[in-house]
Amino acid sequence: MEFDLDNLVRNNVRELKPYSSARDEYTSDGSSMVFLDANESPYFNGINRYPDPHQRQLKSLLAGRYYLSTANILLGNGSDEVLDLIFRAFCEPYQDNIITMPPTYGMYKVLAGINAIENREVLLTKKFELNVEKILESIDTKTKAIFLCSPNNPTGNSFSEKNLEYLLNNFHGLLVVDEAYIDFANRGGWLNRLGQFPNLVVARTFSKAYGMAGLRLGACYGSEEVIAVLNRIKPPYNVNELTQQKALQMIQNTDLLKKQVAEILTERDLMMQQLTKINFINDIYPTDANFILVKVDDADKRYREILKSGVVVRNRSTQPLCNNTLRFTVGTPVENRKLLNVLNSL
Ligand SMILES: *Cc1c(COP(=O)(O)O)cnc(C)c1O
Repeated sequence: MEFDLDNLVRNNVRELKPYSSARDEYTSDGSSMVFLDANESPYFNGINRYPDPHQRQLKSLLAGRYYLSTANILLGNGSDEVLDLIFRAFCEPYQDNIITMPPTYGMYKVLAGINAIENREVLLTKKFELNVEKILESIDTKTKAIFLCSPNNPTGNSFSEKNLEYLLNNFHGLLVVDEAYIDFANRGGWLNRLGQFPNLVVARTFSKAYGMAGLRLGACYGSEEVIAVLNRIKPPYNVNELTQQKALQMIQNTDLLKKQVAEILTERDLMMQQLTKINFINDIYPTDANFILVKVDDADKRYREILKSGVVVRNRSTQPLCNNTLRFTVGTPVENRKLLNVLNSL
């Protein structure tokens, strides 16, 4: 079976015409026009007009950066919205299924639940690698998408390129690679392979390395055809004016991004070394992200002790294969010293 986008799209979405907003029918070309079309307030305050529903400026900045066309990009209110749009465009409630590979980001399962889509779980191997054969065995004609993140949250590792390629070549639904942590990895990610795989969708976020979690901006990159389907169902003004303006300004500050990522990586390596000296930490897992997963003697107990000392970490023990693990985000040098001091005092 070949990749057939038309066959993947939900019936109602295939027939849908997107809502045409006032700003769709006329967009300023820069000349001074009088706007009496959208029932907005005429009093200028920076946000009295509706935002650009197509986020043209932001998209052209990103397209230039990644050598893509703006037609390969969809932006959303955080990558959570982008992922939800993928469900709503392709997965028929109570009929279709998706595959996820725990331990992984919790949102895929939540979104499957919200959209009434069966979530088939195929555990990672003990080394936190994809179990490709088992994944392929779980696929049937109703499997619309596979969701994974690489580098993976909460384990921190990136999946082998070979395994991902194998899935892309042998699965004819969408393979969604969530690259929320790619800026911390010493590899480039999958954006430059989009032309090669029509079923590849890459999700990214500005919430982590870019330092804009409070802004809510996520991106999804895919073939023009896949992006066109998602555009058909997205709410017209899903990325607000302040977000568009602030993101434009911050994304252009590449020096700051590089400096902050470099500092996080230096700190991460320092932390990795120092953590080996803590006697109740039994394992420190390799990481390509801005966090470190460790195995401790008693995660519930250690979590409570650390919390009592004023540091909040994440207890991941309820996740499969993650018994007695804690996840530490890499913070500023001062914050990391504080965590180390607390750990040393226990
Ligand atoms: C943090 C994170 C995100 C971010 O989601 P936003 O809605 O963009 O803030 C996405 N995917 C993974 C795997 C994450 O860990």
